[in-house]
Amino acid sequence: MNRVRLLIFNAALGPLDYRVPDGMQVVPGSVVSAPLGPRQIIGIVWEAERLPGEAVPDAKLRPILDVLPVPPLRGELRRLIEWTADYYCAPIAHVARMVLASGGALKGPATMTEYRLSGGLPERMTPKRELAMAALEGEQATIRELAETAGVSDAVLRGLVNQGVLEPVEVDCDRPYPQARADHDEPVLEESQVEAAGTFVEAVTARQFAPFLLDGVTGSGKTEVYFEAVAEALRLGRQVLVLLPEIALTENFLRRFEERFGAPPVTWHSSLKSTERRRAWRAIATGHAQVVVGARSALFLPYANLGLVVVDEAHEVSFKQDDGVRYNARDVAVMRARFEKIPVILASATPALESLQMAESGIYTRVELASRYGGATLPDISLVDLTEEKPERGRWLAPRLAKEMEARLERGEQSLLFLNRRGYAPLTLCRNCGFRFQCSNCSAWLVEHRFTQKLACHHCGHEEAPPATCPDCGEPDCMVACGPGVERIADEVAEILPEARVAVVTSDTLNSPERAAQFVAQAEGGAIDVIVGTQLVTKGFHFPELTLVGVVDADLGLEGGDLRAAERTYQQVAQVAGRAGRGSKPGEVLIQTRHPDAPVIAALANGDRDAFYEAETEARRDAGAPPFGRWAAIIVSSEDEAEARDAARAIGGTRPDLADIAVLGPAPAPMALLRGRYRYRLLLNARRSAELQDVIRKWLGALDFPRGVRVHVDVDPYSF
Ligand code: ADP
Ligand code: ZN
Repeated sequence: MNRVRLLIFNAALGPLDYRVPDGMQVVPGSVVSAPLGPRQIIGIVWEAERLPGEAVPDAKLRPILDVLPVPPLRGELRRLIEWTADYYCAPIAHVARMVLASGGALKGPATMTEYRLSGGLPERMTPKRELAMAALEGEQATIRELAETAGVSDAVLRGLVNQGVLEPVEVDCDRPYPQARADHDEPVLEESQVEAAGTFVEAVTARQFAPFLLDGVTGSGKTEVYFEAVAEALRLGRQVLVLLPEIALTENFLRRFEERFGAPPVTWHSSLKSTERRRAWRAIATGHAQVVVGARSALFLPYANLGLVVVDEAHEVSFKQDDGVRYNARDVAVMRARFEKIPVILASATPALESLQMAESGIYTRVELASRYGGATLPDISLVDLTEEKPERGRWLAPRLAKEMEARLERGEQSLLFLNRRGYAPLTLCRNCGFRFQCSNCSAWLVEHRFTQKLACHHCGHEEAPPATCPDCGEPDCMVACGPGVERIADEVAEILPEARVAVVTSDTLNSPERAAQFVAQAEGGAIDVIVGTQLVTKGFHFPELTLVGVVDADLGLEGGDLRAAERTYQQVAQVAGRAGRGSKPGEVLIQTRHPDAPVIAALANGDRDAFYEAETEARRDAGAPPFGRWAAIIVSSEDEAEARDAARAIGGTRPDLADIAVLGPAPAPMALLRGRYRYRLLLNARRSAELQDVIRKWLGALDFPRGVRVHVDVDPYSF
């Protein structure tokens, strides 16, 4: 009898065996539907010897129902799925689920039905219908998505469909994408760029595993250079994946890409409509999608013929996924390239120490771009010692910074102020009793957002209207802001420079591709004098008139004792400084600090990158931190605090006694309450050679936990 093992997406059930009916053709990687109890599920045919499971006796096997009309997942991708599950101690079912990101959508036909307003009116208008119709102006999507947009139930919209107010539109999910052309608009490269590009082009042609660190100062033309590798892949008819850290940066990238190649790339991110998602998935699997630019999840798509992977701004924190399968997309990108036997380019002006170390030890090839394109100079950096040059009472900008901004305004140039804090103030108190506004679901303060008049939790998304009176003592109009957020800085700019046009740029204001495009157009068109922004403005943007960057509080990221605090501060400040003077006018950077002697601040001021990395290397070596040692976290959570604590203690009580792995804790996790769950943590510090994952799997595998307890492992956690 012909039996196969299926990887299914339910981690609790594990892999299951099925019978292949006579005449049905399946191979490893085939995506099939099969019965499970009364339901139908989707599964991937897997090599049984690579996927341990309970062998069902022949007589009990149920037949596979159908092979879905998508190409079988290639062996290279199946090995990546196995590796990811193994390395990150995650259920393989959950990794596989990311690959079939459109899940059930696979089963459907190539067309889907979307709806849009027809222009007609309902027989009877209700408040809900009116609300929905206003919200859906100009929208076209599936009923489910429209309901989400409009904030009403599906039933309300079905009613509108029945009355002809919403009309159906058939969308062909197999309609082709416009084709990019390698020679559409080729740039003339500078000498150092030619050399770098040549190295990449050669590697693409050779089609072997080859990891590169493209280490180039801000404005050196890293994008321009890796575009040459993209062009080569296009010529050879191979697919390219470019990973970007933020959707907000994508707009800029899309435009440059289209200018260079004559057509936009295929985009992949979490807010794609389901029709676009299905269209992209199918085109990627069949090989029609040439270049895919996406968020980290694009790594797990079933490329038919991948020839190159690029990770731009490879040092970025947002490549680390922090829920579900906790993986680092930068590292998985290298593994994907290894399984596919293709080159991978990690591009950054401020590489992570881990990446630099890989380059130094010869595992990655380092390709350097040492100077800015077109003779643009790197900006002048100086420190503003806030203990000496004090801002006026109730202000945050030192007089020197204010004066420089004024000079820019007079010359018609732009300034950028960087502060990595959304909202008006990080903490809000009652003026009368000192009550602190705190999230009820998380151990975090609520942050006042004045523009939207809300108190918001930045961890769980909880929002509430600011209360009229103090919840504790009843004092009316009691809220006092403590410390600055970007909105407060924008207010201060308006006071100092009343005629300046100020834009606040955060994930709150730049929350869609349209708004990102609008911002870029305004900033480039000279309609903005001062940009006040969070880390969102530190990278990617290229505004020629921007000649002054002010770092409002360089010490901010250094607080909290995080092991990566210094590196992150270095990266953020160096990146934001890199926005200044990218055109023909020289740039200047003022860094406000209370610790001008701290090694990272001094290194920034002296433009001495090597000094910073050397100091950081020593600190990491002493701490047994990456790249010299490895860390992993075991996080235990429950809605019941005692249950979480007991489970964490049970894990701690069975800790293995090993020479090469130290176990710390359990202790309350840094966010001890998150989204209504209490969290405890054990930290593991291992020598590089230790079999860390094996130890964790055996250790946790031997324990049972109450239903309400969740245990997850974070291998190579980003911050702790
Ligand atoms: P990076 O990614 O290193 O910060 P970019 O690739 O964004 O640098 O390049 C900086 C600016 O210089 C961009 O506006 C880019 O178009 C321009 N540029 C770089 N190299 C060239 C070139 N060879 N020809 C024309 N423009 C270039
Ligand atoms: Zn919260």
